[in-house]
Amino acid sequence: MLTDQKMRDKNVNLLHGAGGELMNALIADVLTKIRNKNAGGIGLESLDDGAAIPLASGGYLILTTDTHVVKPIFFPGGDIGRLAVSGTVNDLAMMGAAPVALTSAIVLEDGFEMSDLRTIVASMDKTTQEVDTAIVTGDTKVVEKGALDQIIINTAGIGFVNKPSRDCGLEPGNVIIITGTIGDHGIAVLAKREDFNFRTELRSDVAPIWHTVKAALDAAGPDGITAMKDPTRGGVASALNDMARKSGVEIMIDEELLPLNRSIQAAAEMLGIDVLAVANEGKALIGVDAERADDVLDAIRGTKYGRKAAIIGEVKQGQKVLLRTAIGGTRFVDAPLGDPVPRVC
Ligand code: MG
Repeated sequence: MLTDQKMRDKNVNLLHGAGGELMNALIADVLTKIRNKNAGGIGLESLDDGAAIPLASGGYLILTTDTHVVKPIFFPGGDIGRLAVSGTVNDLAMMGAAPVALTSAIVLEDGFEMSDLRTIVASMDKTTQEVDTAIVTGDTKVVEKGALDQIIINTAGIGFVNKPSRDCGLEPGNVIIITGTIGDHGIAVLAKREDFNFRTELRSDVAPIWHTVKAALDAAGPDGITAMKDPTRGGVASALNDMARKSGVEIMIDEELLPLNRSIQAAAEMLGIDVLAVANEGKALIGVDAERADDVLDAIRGTKYGRKAAIIGEVKQGQKVLLRTAIGGTRFVDAPLGDPVPRVC
C-alpha cells in the first residue's frame, strides 16, 4: 500500500501535511506517541477537532491549536490572519464551544514587510470581533532570510462546554447538513497562487462560523446534533470518511444536493481537481437527528455564513462513504491521500 511505503520514508514530505490518509498515518505512527494525561476527557488519541479537559467544577475546557502556512498570504476573500483566527474558532465550534480567548504566535522571515504585518494583525483583530472574542496573549519570533517562507502563524483557543460535540456520534437515520458551498477556499487559493485567470474572481470562504454553529446547536436541542466536523484539508471527502469510520456507519451523499458556486465548479473541472477533496475554511458538516433536520437547516440559513446550507445526504448502516451521482449511478467517495492543493491553510 502506498500509505505504508510513504511512512517508511526517511523524510517528511508535503503530502504528510495535506490532511489525507498519509497525514492520518503520520499522526497515528508518530505524533500521538505521547503520554495521555487527559483521563475522562477527549485527548490526542481521539483526533477530534480539539481536546476536552474535564473540570472539577463540571463541564469541560476545550483547547485547540492550529498552525497556518498558506501560500499566498493574501488571497481573494481573506489572508493568513483571517485564516489563523477562523481555523481555531471553527475547531472550537466543532466541539460545541464559543471562543472565549485565543493566542497568536507569529514567526516572521527577516525582511517581511511591516505594512503587510500591520494588515494581517488588523485582519486577525477584525475576525475575532466577529465572534466576540479576542487574542489575549502571543509570541513573535524572527528567523533569517530563507529559513521560512515569509510568515507562519499559530493560534490556539479555549472555550467551555457542558457536553462536548464529537465527530464520531453519527447514527443510522441521521441526515448530513453542510453549512454552505464546497471547495471555495482551496480552489481560490490555488487560482491566486498559480495566477490562473478565470472570468469571475474565485473567493475563499474563510470565516469564523461560531454563530452559524450556535444557531444549529440551539435549534437541534439536546442530542439533536450527533456529530460535527469542519471539512478543511482533504475537504468534504476526508471529513466524511473520518466521521463515518469513527461512528461505524455508512454515509450516502447526493451529488445534486451539494451546494457549489458555479465559478468554483468550472475552475475545479478545468484544473482537474475534485471539489470534494479540497479545503473549505468556513464550513461545517453536521450530523442531525432526522426529525430536527428542517429546523436546524432553517436556523443555519438564517445566519450570515449559512445562507446556502443544504441537506446533502443520510446516514445508514455500513462502513463507507458513497455518492449518488447526478446521472443516477453510485460511487465510493474515498478518503484522499492528501489535499490536491498543498499549503492551503
Ligand atoms: Mg477541524
